[in-house]
Amino acid sequence: TEPALSVRDLEVTYYTDDGPVSAVNGVSFDLMPGEKLGLVGESGSGKSTMALALMRLLRAPTVISGQVLLDGEDLIGMPERRVRQLRSSKISMIPQGAMNSLNPVARIENQIIDTLEDHGTRRDKRTLLGLARDALEAVGLRRSVGRMYPHELSGGMKQRVCIAIAVAMQPQVVIADEPTSALDVVVQRQVMDTILKLQDELGVAVILIGHDMGLMAQTVDRLAVMYAGKLAELSPIREIFADPLHPYTELLIESLPKLADRGTFRGIPGLPPSLRSMPSGCLFHPRCPKAFDPCVDLEPAYGATSVRPEPVEGHQRFVACHLHQTEESHVG
Ligand code: SF4
Ligand code: MG
Repeated sequence: TEPALSVRDLEVTYYTDDGPVSAVNGVSFDLMPGEKLGLVGESGSGKSTMALALMRLLRAPTVISGQVLLDGEDLIGMPERRVRQLRSSKISMIPQGAMNSLNPVARIENQIIDTLEDHGTRRDKRTLLGLARDALEAVGLRRSVGRMYPHELSGGMKQRVCIAIAVAMQPQVVIADEPTSALDVVVQRQVMDTILKLQDELGVAVILIGHDMGLMAQTVDRLAVMYAGKLAELSPIREIFADPLHPYTELLIESLPKLADRGTFRGIPGLPPSLRSMPSGCLFHPRCPKAFDPCVDLEPAYGATSVRPEPVEGHQRFVACHLHQTEESHVG
C-alpha cells in the first residue's frame, strides 16, 4: 500500500532578530491510509510547528524545506492556490484550542460552511449544508446541532464540532493538535472515541498530537517521539511501551503515574535545550542517563533498527540513538 502522507527531511527554520532558528530538523516518516499516528514530546519540541508545516500554514519569515507527499503531489513548493484546494479536501487540521475560536454569534452549520469556503471549496449552498450536516453525524452529533450556537453546546460537543469541520470534505489525513487538552477526563475519552471512529467510518488517517502518553496508549497504532525538533523514535504502540528503544521514550513512559502510586507524577529531570543553543552530538545527551562516549560529539542518525529477520510492514521500528544500530536507507 502507498502511504497517505509521506514526509521526507522536513525542515522548518524561523528567521528571528537573533538569526535563524531550526524548529523542525530533518523529520521523515510515512503515514499509512487509515493509520492513527501519535506525536508526543515536551512543549517546544516542534510538534505544532510540524503540524502547521504539513498544512503549509506557516508564514514568512519561516522557511520550509523537504518533501510532504500527498497522493504523489509535493505540498512544499506547490503554488498557494493548489494548497488551498487540498486543505480540507485531502488534508485538514483541528488546531490547538480550536473549540475556543468558534464564532459565538454564528450557527454551527454556517461556521462549517464558512470554513469550507475559506479553504477554497466551491459548491452551492445546499450541497455545502448537506456536507456540514453529514459531518455532524459522522462525529456522533445530531444534524439539528447545526442550527445551534456554540453557547448551547458542552465542551465535548464543541470539540466534536471542530472535528466535524475538519472531516467535512472527507480528507485522507486529519491532524489533531492536542484536541483534548482543555477537557475533563470523561469528555477526553468521548473525543478520543470520536477520533477513533473516524477511521472506521471515513477511512481517515490521523496524526494525533499530545503529551498524554496514557491517552496515546489507548488510541494510536504507532507513536512518534519528538525531541528538540527531531524524531527520537517511531514505533508501534505496543512495542514502544513494552520495550522503548530511546532513553527519552523510556523516561516519558516511566513518568506516567502508575496505578499503584497514584498521583506521584515524576517529571523528566533537566530541561529541553533552547533552539538557539543546541548541544553538540546527541541533542538529548545532557539529560540522558545512558549517555556514553560517542554521544557528546557524534549525532546519532535516525533510521530503521537493523534487526534480522526484517519485521513485517508497519512493525518496523525507527530510532536515533547510539545504543541502537540503524540503517538510514529506509524510513517509515
Ligand atoms: Fe542517550 Fe547517547 Fe542515545 Fe543520545 S545517543 S539518547 S545521549 S544513549
Ligand atoms: Mg503545541
